[in-house]
Amino acid sequence: MNKLSADALKQISQEAKPQVCACALGACKGWESFTEDRWPKAQMRALGSLRDPDEYSPTQEEFHPDGTRYASPDAPIAVNFFPCNVSDVYACDSCHKVLLRYTEFGGYYVDHRVREVDPALVV
Ligand SMILES: [Zn+2]
Repeated sequence: MNKLSADALKQISQEAKPQVCACALGACKGWESFTEDRWPKAQMRALGSLRDPDEYSPTQEEFHPDGTRYASPDAPIAVNFFPCNVSDVYACDSCHKVLLRYTEFGGYYVDHRVREVDPALVV
C-alpha cells in the first residue's frame, strides 16, 4: 500500500464528509478494540498506509503534548508516532468515514484497534 503523509491523511478525511455511521464498528473517536468479525470488510476500501516501508522497527513512542492518553478521543493523530505509524488507512463506502486500523500482537493474542480520523487532530 502506498504511504500517506499527514497532509494527505488530513485532506482525505476533510473531503470525506462522513454521515452518521451504520457500520458495525460504531463510534471510535479514540482507539477502540474490535474483533475481526465486526470489521465490515465488504464496505471498507483501503486507501494507503501510514507505515514507513523502510522502517523495520517503528517507534513505540506516543505523542501527547497536551496530556492526552492513548485512548483519548482528542489525542493527536500523529502520523509519525505510535500507533499511527503502524496503521493502515481505510474509508467506509457507506458512510465515508475515514478510519485507521492496526493490530497489536501480544504473546497469546492479537488485538485489532480502530480509530476514526478527525482531520483537526492530524499532525
Ligand atoms: Zn460506515
